[in-house]
Amino acid sequence: MNQFLSTPIEYLKGIGPAKAEVLKKELQLFTFNDLLFHFPYRHIDRSKVYKISELRPDMPYVQVKGTLKNLRTLGTKGGQRLVAEMHDKTGVIELVWFQGHKWVKDSIQANKEYLAFGKPNEFNGTLNIVHPNLDDPEDAAIKKYLHIMPMYNCTERMKARGIDSKAIMKWVNTLLMNPGFEVEECLSDAILQENNMISRKAALFSIHFPSNLALLAQAEHRLKFEEFFFIQLKLLRYKVKRHQLFNGIKLEIIGEYFNTFFERYLPFELTGAQKRVLKEIRIDVKRGIQMNRLVQGDVGSGKTVVALMSMLMTIDNGYQACMMAPTEILATQHYETISSLLKDMPVRVKLLMGSTPAREKKKVYEQLEQGELDILIGTHALIESKVVFKNLGMAIVDEQHRFGVEQRARLWQKNTYPPHVLVMTATPIPRTLAMTLYGDLDTSVIDELPAGRKPIQTILRYDSSRLAVYGFMKTEIKKGRQIYIVYPLIEESEKMDYKNLVDGYEGICKEFPEPTYQVSILHGRMKTAEKEFEMNRFIRGETNIMVATTVIEVGVNVPNASVMIVESAQKFGLSQLHQLRGRVGRGADQSYCILMSDVKQSTEAKQRLKTMVETTDGFKIAEADLKLRGPGQLEGTAQSGILDLKIGDLSKDTAILALARNVAQSILDSDPNLQQDVNKPMAKFEAIYRKTAKWGRIS
Ligand code: ADP
Ligand code: MG
Repeated sequence: MNQFLSTPIEYLKGIGPAKAEVLKKELQLFTFNDLLFHFPYRHIDRSKVYKISELRPDMPYVQVKGTLKNLRTLGTKGGQRLVAEMHDKTGVIELVWFQGHKWVKDSIQANKEYLAFGKPNEFNGTLNIVHPNLDDPEDAAIKKYLHIMPMYNCTERMKARGIDSKAIMKWVNTLLMNPGFEVEECLSDAILQENNMISRKAALFSIHFPSNLALLAQAEHRLKFEEFFFIQLKLLRYKVKRHQLFNGIKLEIIGEYFNTFFERYLPFELTGAQKRVLKEIRIDVKRGIQMNRLVQGDVGSGKTVVALMSMLMTIDNGYQACMMAPTEILATQHYETISSLLKDMPVRVKLLMGSTPAREKKKVYEQLEQGELDILIGTHALIESKVVFKNLGMAIVDEQHRFGVEQRARLWQKNTYPPHVLVMTATPIPRTLAMTLYGDLDTSVIDELPAGRKPIQTILRYDSSRLAVYGFMKTEIKKGRQIYIVYPLIEESEKMDYKNLVDGYEGICKEFPEPTYQVSILHGRMKTAEKEFEMNRFIRGETNIMVATTVIEVGVNVPNASVMIVESAQKFGLSQLHQLRGRVGRGADQSYCILMSDVKQSTEAKQRLKTMVETTDGFKIAEADLKLRGPGQLEGTAQSGILDLKIGDLSKDTAILALARNVAQSILDSDPNLQQDVNKPMAKFEAIYRKTAKWGRIS
């Protein structure tokens, strides 16, 4: 940043110390540069001035010009509003302010001409505009930018101190017009030319004051590109650095363990996608570079066996492997699946969890250190400091969105050299998010379900058809199938949820009485042993119905369960619904997901349920989720400040992000340390971006 731009904001003409205080507090604007990067949230086209007689209540934002008359404050204290009339030759419209009216009143005058900008409404048969923007048509700055005018975010507190969007507009204008104003280019000429982008200076000017909409679009494009580019450059450089720093463990051979398993014990034919991903992993681990790979595969796509075979690859080369799961239920299930698949092979597998008895734990620690264990499966207990491997070659993290960044990082400390890391997730991540959140990982996608699976039928039902749903359940149970019923669990109202669950359970027990039917219940308040007992009864097929909260959400695999009923489905998020639905459809039978919902629901909830009924494609669902909720809300992203973007939008800017990543990659391919002269501008800016960026390193 040059000296001019680092000037404290109070030195800008018109601001001064008092207003600067407000800007610092409310918008964290400290320097000229901060103000320059306080981009408008939108622009309004004010080239057209309507006649008052032309206004209709269904019109979007409009501008009218007229004289203010009859200013008055109405209502009692607390509920006061300021009302004025605006007259032109063709008619009258009412202007109303509910907030900040004292300030408005002081800043406007009756019998003077104004430009009013806002959305026309109808109230009690009269046309009005609530909280219009009023401008003096003779104001030079207004005249100048009347065409396409920037609108800036302002808080109520700022408005109370007389700082509104217009004030900011004027300051930005002052800044841009200052003879000392200069910005340095941060992209090479080559990048600009090849991608047809305008200069940084031009973009920063036009993002505020574009002379036409095409220029605004170019400015946005350029600045979004820049933002994405430096994030990608940084992530990709982590990867380069990691490769330069660490020699990965070489897993060169495919040996006895892998081959015996593949030839004799693998109970099914691998899908093409599973084979491809295993090949990608194989290439990674034998080249002497530490692997950091994300495996995305929709629920039921068969990630467990890919994990297992990668671990066999590892022990074929004389190393140990471990696999972490987010819950004890899931870890136990992995342990059972894997030990049963390996039961006729001399592979030493153990399970380690928080609830493992102390004596057993101690034994596991010893065996690990002595190299008497080949595969360790478990929960967070695996990353406790007491756990020391003799020679860990590969760490697999299942359903990683429940593992924090630091927890994953701790895997590194298990060895003097880092093990290969395989991160598996069934939460499909939109491409933009994957590129940003896991931009330094390589990714593999299992995009194919095992053959013979019938697509799950998803049905939306209202409470009024509950009896019909019970009837359907009975038919399915008669066929030998099992059923999940899931209740929402939302922390703020845990008590209520618990009551709903218990009421629901009692209702089901009445409708499905013993001894004909057996019903299990599973929820977070139960002790681990109780949970396991109930879960195991269901897994073994001893109970017909499992009434549960979302504790069963992740990973649980009961192929005979063919019906998933989600109660109050409108309360669940999309990715959660998708996860839940993925609990069924794992066997050869036709499976069903029944979403029970209130008739009354928000538009967003309606959209979610509609999406669920329409598609079973996890990626489509993830994209829809991103559009509905925005990136900050998605599971697993909250801890990552990486999503605090200034101008880029991960739900819309897929193409720009992909472009930025490609450009960054191709630059690093030819100049991994950014030492060439042409790349000097980027090297310099990368350092600045690195300092200001808030996010931590991933893995
Ligand atoms: P997820 O990817 O959700 O972790 P799992 O690994 O639990 O999926 O696999 C789901 C089910 O599909 C399991 O019962 C597993 O045995 C089975 N499965 C996995 N791969 C195949 C395959 N290639 N052919 C048939 N069944 C498979
Ligand atoms: Mg799984």
